[in-house]
Amino acid sequence: MEINGHTRICGLIGNPVEHTLSPMIHNTLAGLLGHNLVYVPFLVEEGRVPEAVTGADALHLLGLNVTVPYKSEVIQCLQEIDDLAKNIGAVNTLVKTAGGYKGYNTDMEGLYRAMKSEGIRLEGEQIVLLGAGGAARAVAYLCAVKGAEKVYMLNRTISKVQAVAEEVNRTVGREVILPMITEDYVKLPERKYLAIQGTSVGLAPHTEDVVIADKVFYEKIKTGFDLIYNPWETKFMRLVRQQGGDAYNGLKMLLYQGIIAYELWNDVSVSEEQAQIVYEKLKEHFT
Ligand code: NAP
Repeated sequence: MEINGHTRICGLIGNPVEHTLSPMIHNTLAGLLGHNLVYVPFLVEEGRVPEAVTGADALHLLGLNVTVPYKSEVIQCLQEIDDLAKNIGAVNTLVKTAGGYKGYNTDMEGLYRAMKSEGIRLEGEQIVLLGAGGAARAVAYLCAVKGAEKVYMLNRTISKVQAVAEEVNRTVGREVILPMITEDYVKLPERKYLAIQGTSVGLAPHTEDVVIADKVFYEKIKTGFDLIYNPWETKFMRLVRQQGGDAYNGLKMLLYQGIIAYELWNDVSVSEEQAQIVYEKLKEHFT
């Protein structure tokens, strides 16, 4: 693609940004769709998010993704915020509007599309969710709004999971999230669950770590979905598979959160064939 006077710019702000796969997603999409657009990572130092957003606006950047640790902090810099992002309390995508940027959260819709593409449903399901950090909190909200019957939410720090459960239940108006301390997995009613691994345990280079190692827990899991995608197969996924369950990593979630952001920036719809081409390219990075 030739960069010229019409080239539009999108990017990522975060710290660190060196290992991001987002440029691969967006620049591949731009090539596939024939758009004159480039996507670049921007390292933003602590305390400089407002300046970065103001600067991006002044330079007419079409859109930005926001990653760790700025997904909450960036909210104060927005002109407008989408309802879903507001309820989740985290923004990962900014879209240029006349007076500044509108903030969205495409992580959760990305997870939902990723699960749908694997044939996993949330509606009417009994779910075990591990973690109560930023990602798990958003997953709890997603499960609740998509009609999960019950979500047993397990975390090392009980006060954190209690606070998240209370907030999500209040927002959706039903007692769908049940907070528990992780050790209490032995008390989960006997049945087969969809389990979503939303902690940072097991992320490379600590690939042999797992929140629950007991095989008794995995006997209750029919499907395991780990938000982590590095390593390709986490220990959580391996333990699910060893007990006969299906297991998926978080790479498709990353793919679809990017695709939804790209669709918002360019007012287009990315086809499943195009999504698959980008996915294959991302996969090459790991396999
Ligand atoms: P976070 O806010 O830092 O939360 C970390 C969570 O992990 C908390 O629940 C924490 O428990 C738990 N935890 C950390 N160390 C632990 C340990 N040694 N033992 C037990 N629990 C431990 O992180 P986050 O932003 O939610 O991200 C979580 C994971 O999701 C990350 O690995 C991230 O890569 C992944 N993610 C993937 C995507 C994707 O596109 N695929 C998108 C977003 C996030 P306490 O509350 O007790 O501290």
